[in-house]
Amino acid sequence: MTDCLFCKVRDGEIPTDIVFENEDVLAFNDINPQAPVHILIIPRLHISTVNDVAENNELIMGKLFSAAKTIARQKSVSEDGYRLVVNCNAGAGQTVFHLHMHLLAGRALTWPPG
Ligand code: AMP
Ligand code: ZN
Repeated sequence: MTDCLFCKVRDGEIPTDIVFENEDVLAFNDINPQAPVHILIIPRLHISTVNDVAENNELIMGKLFSAAKTIARQKSVSEDGYRLVVNCNAGAGQTVFHLHMHLLAGRALTWPPG
């Protein structure tokens, strides 16, 4: 998937502020932050949307949540709270078709979302 933006981030072809990484997951600051803390957590494996998650991806999906927990602690937002968002397809606002989890924190987040 050479034309995928986040595969290029993963491969170091596009520079980002990496805040966390392990064998399966990479996390970096969003280029257009919507909150004081806005981090994107991606699987290294290219999966386009939540609709494309297969049974053998379940372990990796769990690792996105583990990374979110670790990053939230590192950013000292665990106690105040944070929001995890995964947009699926254009109607939900997905613009980059490499599955990613947004971690948003550092301000009061309203509900319902826009
Ligand atoms: P979504 O709209 O859920 O697909 O989220 C895509 C996110 O990727 C947006 O919040 C963008 O600001 C962010 N984004 C796009 N290009 C980059 C980049 N080069 N580095 C970091 N974040 C990016
Ligand atoms: Zn990709």
